[in-house]
Amino acid sequence: MPSRTDVILDAARRAAAYLEGVSDRTVAPSPDAVARIAALREPLPADPTPDARVLALLDDIGSPATVANAGGRYFGFVNGGALPATVAANMLAAAWDQNMGLRVMSPIAALLEDIALEWIRELLHLPQGVAGTLVTGATMANLSCLAAARTALLSKQGWDVESQGLFGAPPITVVVGEEVHVSVQKALAILGFGRNRVVTVPADSQGRMRADRLPKITSPSIVCLQAGNVNSGAFDPAQEICPAIPRDLAWIHADGAFGLWAACSPSHAHLVRGFDQADSWATDGHKWPNLPYDCGIAFVRHPAALHKALSMQAAYLPASNDREPAQWTPEMSRRARGVEAWAAIKSLGRSGLAELIDRTCRHAQRFAEKLQAAGFEIVNEVVINQVLVSFGSPEKTQAVVRAVQADGTCWCGGTVWQGRHAMRISISSWVTTEEDVDKSVDAMIRAAKHV
Ligand SMILES: *Cc1c(COP(=O)(O)O)cnc(C)c1O
Repeated sequence: MPSRTDVILDAARRAAAYLEGVSDRTVAPSPDAVARIAALREPLPADPTPDARVLALLDDIGSPATVANAGGRYFGFVNGGALPATVAANMLAAAWDQNMGLRVMSPIAALLEDIALEWIRELLHLPQGVAGTLVTGATMANLSCLAAARTALLSKQGWDVESQGLFGAPPITVVVGEEVHVSVQKALAILGFGRNRVVTVPADSQGRMRADRLPKITSPSIVCLQAGNVNSGAFDPAQEICPAIPRDLAWIHADGAFGLWAACSPSHAHLVRGFDQADSWATDGHKWPNLPYDCGIAFVRHPAALHKALSMQAAYLPASNDREPAQWTPEMSRRARGVEAWAAIKSLGRSGLAELIDRTCRHAQRFAEKLQAAGFEIVNEVVINQVLVSFGSPEKTQAVVRAVQADGTCWCGGTVWQGRHAMRISISSWVTTEEDVDKSVDAMIRAAKHV
C-alpha cells in the first residue's frame, strides 16, 4: 500500500515538470488538449480510485489544458504569476491544512497573517493603526470596505444597520467615477446601495475621475476612487479630490486592486499620492505582487466600523483579546492565505517588489514603443503596466486579438476603451523577460499582417 506521502512527492515532481515546460508551449491550450478534457466527464465513481491514478489523470489530461498563466507571455486581464516561494509555501500550507478562522485553530497561520498585513500596509504607504483583512480578491475587499463604510455612516446617524437592516435607513449618497470597476458596482449591489443609485462623475480621456466635476458633498456619502484603471492603468487624482471632500460627512474608498502597489516603487509612488487620505482601501495579492490565487486585501482606517460590520458571536467561538480573523472578514472558515502573502514579501523584500513593479512597467513601455514603431496606435498613456493598442478598424483589432490568441505565442484579451476597440496588454508576471516581450510583439505584428 503506498503511503500518503508518495502521492505528495509525485505531485511536487509533476508540478516542477509543469513549470519547467510552461514557457515552451502555446499560451492558450491546444484545441486537442481542450478536446481531451471531456474524458473526465463520467458517471459518479462508485468505488475508490488510487491516489496515484487520480493525480496522473489530473496531470495527463489537466496540465495540457491549462492556460499558461505561469509562463512569461500571458498578458490577459491583470493576472500575475505566482512567485516560486509562494507556490512552495502554498504546497506546504496545503499539507498543514490550517483553518484560518480563529487564532486557536492555527497560531502560526494567524501570526503570518498579522505580519503580512502589517508589511503590506507599510509597503502601500497606508497609515498606522488601520484594520486589515485577507479575503479572496479585490471584489470581496471592496465589499468588506464598503460594508464598513455603510456601518460607519449609518451609526453616525443613530442607525444600527447590522440589527435594523437597510429598509427605512437614512439615505447615503454614493459617488463613483465614470470608469468605476464592475466589482465595486457588484459590491454596491450586494450591500443594498444599488448599482444605478449612484452619482457618476465624468472621467477624462485616461479614465481618471475629473476633480472639477466632483459634486458638492452636503449629506452622508461614500466616494469611491480608483488607483489603477483595469484598462488604461490610470489613477484618479486623489490629491485633488480628497481635500475637497468634507470628512465629517463622507467616507472615501479607494479601489486599488493592482494600482496601489505602485507605492512600492520610488519611481512610481507619485501616482498614489493622496490615496493615503482615504478611509478604506481594497487591493489584490494575486495581481501585481504575484501571489497565487486567491488573495485580496482590505484595509479600513476605522477598525471599529469593519469589526461591527463583519463580526459575529456564539458561545463556542472564543472571544480573545487578540485579532480573531473571522471577526474581520465576510467568511468564517478560510484558507491560510497569509502564509503565501508572508512568503511573497519575505522572498522579495522591499527592493524586490520595487524591482518587480519597475520591470513590468519597463516591459509595458517596450511593448508600446515597438508596436508604435510598427505603425500601430497606442490608445492610452502608458503610466504603469497596462498597454492598449489599436490595429485599425474595430473589426481588424478584434480579428488581430483572435489571431494572437490562436497563434499561441502569447495571450491578450480585447476591450472597448472610450468607444474604441483595443487589445489589452497587462504585464503583471515576475516571469516575463524582454525576450518574451519581443517574441510577443513579433507575433502581434505577424497576426496583424495576416488578418
Ligand atoms: C481586478 C480588479 C478588481 C477585482 O478584483 P478580483 O481580485 O478579481 O476580485 C477590482 N478593481 C480593479 C480596479 C481591478 O483591476
